[in-house]
Amino acid sequence: MNRAVYPGSFDPVTFGHLDIIERSLAITDELIVGVLNNKAKSPLFSVEERVNMLKEVTKHLKHVTIQSFDGLLVDFAAQSQANMIVRGLRAITDFEYELQMSQINHALNSKIETVFLTTRLEFAYLSSSTVKEVAGMGGEICKFVPELVVERLYQKYGVIR
Ligand code: ADP
Repeated sequence: MNRAVYPGSFDPVTFGHLDIIERSLAITDELIVGVLNNKAKSPLFSVEERVNMLKEVTKHLKHVTIQSFDGLLVDFAAQSQANMIVRGLRAITDFEYELQMSQINHALNSKIETVFLTTRLEFAYLSSSTVKEVAGMGGEICKFVPELVVERLYQKYGVIR
């Protein structure tokens, strides 16, 4: 049985993340979405808010659970008894960092393999940061994030629709 962890900040979850979550289910029996509680970063949404939004937008999917974590990803994966880490690759700019991370994670725990899924073309440009930028200026974001996230983003920025 395969169990994978899909880690990230998810600040907030986008259709790009959801696509990776859905497609991961074809290569693993269980998927744990790991929401990083990184105290060095100052996210727009608290870890609880990010976890709750992910739970809402994945509630139709079987075999997906959402958990927060801090510390080393390989430790979280090992504690969760996962044998795989899933990451999404958008452009070549993601590649160098992802390659380093997968190699260091392999050096830390060689039992856990990192698997990359390449983004669908329509989501290649999509990142949580750009969506936040557009939302903050009151722009239309319903092509990028689920309706629930649209509402939460506008609320955060005090945008009235
Ligand atoms: P991180 O801070 O770890 O990069 P993100 O929430 O930005 O966290 O992304 C989590 C994972 O999802 C990363 O592997 C990232 O490459 C991937 N990802 C983000 N946006 C997209 C997208 N539009 N298409 C495919 N993968 C994506």
